[in-house]
Amino acid sequence: MTPLPDDVTTPTAETPGTPDAGGTPGTAGTRAAPAGTRAARPGSAIRSAEVLVSSPDRNFVTLRLTTEDGVVGLGDATLNGRELSVVSYLTDHVVPLLLGRDAHRIEDTWQFLYRSAYWRRGPVTMAAIAAVDVALWDIKAKVAGLPLYQLLGGASRTGIMAYGHASGRDLPELFDSIRHHQEQGFRSIRVQTSVPGIDAVYGVAAQPSSSGRYDYEPAQRAPLPAEEDWDTRAYLRHIPRVFEAVRNEFGPELPLLHDGHHRMTPIQAARLGKDLEQYDLFWLEDCTPAENQDALRLVRQHTTTPLAIGEVFNTVWDYQTLVREQLIDYVRSAVTHTGGITALRRILDFAAQYQIKSGIHGPTDISPVGMAAALHLDLAIHNFGIQEYMQHGPRTNEVFLQTFTFEDGYLHPGDAPGLGVGYDDEAAEKYPYQPAYLPFNRLKDGTVHDW
Ligand SMILES: [Mg+2]
Repeated sequence: MTPLPDDVTTPTAETPGTPDAGGTPGTAGTRAAPAGTRAARPGSAIRSAEVLVSSPDRNFVTLRLTTEDGVVGLGDATLNGRELSVVSYLTDHVVPLLLGRDAHRIEDTWQFLYRSAYWRRGPVTMAAIAAVDVALWDIKAKVAGLPLYQLLGGASRTGIMAYGHASGRDLPELFDSIRHHQEQGFRSIRVQTSVPGIDAVYGVAAQPSSSGRYDYEPAQRAPLPAEEDWDTRAYLRHIPRVFEAVRNEFGPELPLLHDGHHRMTPIQAARLGKDLEQYDLFWLEDCTPAENQDALRLVRQHTTTPLAIGEVFNTVWDYQTLVREQLIDYVRSAVTHTGGITALRRILDFAAQYQIKSGIHGPTDISPVGMAAALHLDLAIHNFGIQEYMQHGPRTNEVFLQTFTFEDGYLHPGDAPGLGVGYDDEAAEKYPYQPAYLPFNRLKDGTVHDW
């Protein structure tokens, strides 16, 4: 935890109602205070910024901002497997810049943090900026006495359709997992399965949990990352048969999703998309490595299976070609890794012009704070598509006090002022940081492959 700098000099607040002179020319003979350093409302300057690290079911990094008048805002800064890099970025380079700033100047603070560092983008930087942005939105909504979605334009729908993660080592386990999700209320389901000849496959739980759930948690608490194996040809042969079996068992109505996890070449992804067309997927996700936007052009030329990508993207620039050329159908970015609500809203507004919808990233490494931010955005935007919902474990829910609900397949952020998430320090102290890594992949001949 970052110590609270109690001795921070806080700029004097202007008279209430007086326009902030920071952005307007000063009167002759007076000197305007630097932009962004003065509170527009008495008491709204940021008094403290704490970087909180806890590991209830997994590692989480949370930023807690408190204003002079005691309003608290939370932001999620969790970067799976690289958590402490964001802690350092926040503690060493962002927190000192926040103290004394007006918490209500969200746009100015975002631009200040993004542009003033000179070194732009990247997951560490953008997760840090996201945490600040979301915490400021939380504060603004609490001051307004409104749930955050009201400040984003109000509700565009009554609930947020969520999809869950079903997986199995074979078809009986997979069917069992799908049924379990349906019993929980899920109306849309992601399907991941083992592949004959491959020992460990992304998205497939090694065994059912004591509760009967096939939960999959890729980040393992260990000093070194786990090694998995991969064979794309075996995967391409197997997956269409699995979807055929699932459709035969569960019928044509159930929306089904699948994640390729960035492992195919463009022509391999094109073939899979083509092979899966008859099973009417809601989307095929992350079919190729995401850095190469042009790869999706080739995939698109060959298949009408809807495409989703973007969970590893950090800014709107990663989407330029994909959106303008309508090469994707769903934006997969997380609020947490894309610079916050301010930035993701812009990406989704850009995407909306091209009939591309949202599919905000929501695995368990997005903390309940990041999840709540996604839900407020989901409820407000017009081009909502679907929300990933992996469900956090009981220890996480003990640390993060939540008001959002999941009922009959639909999420809702709730109507508490702000994000609707609290942080229990006492509970968090029971779960200190533990080193954890995402796995990596090798092909049969030992070559490192995309994980
Ligand atoms: Mg994915």
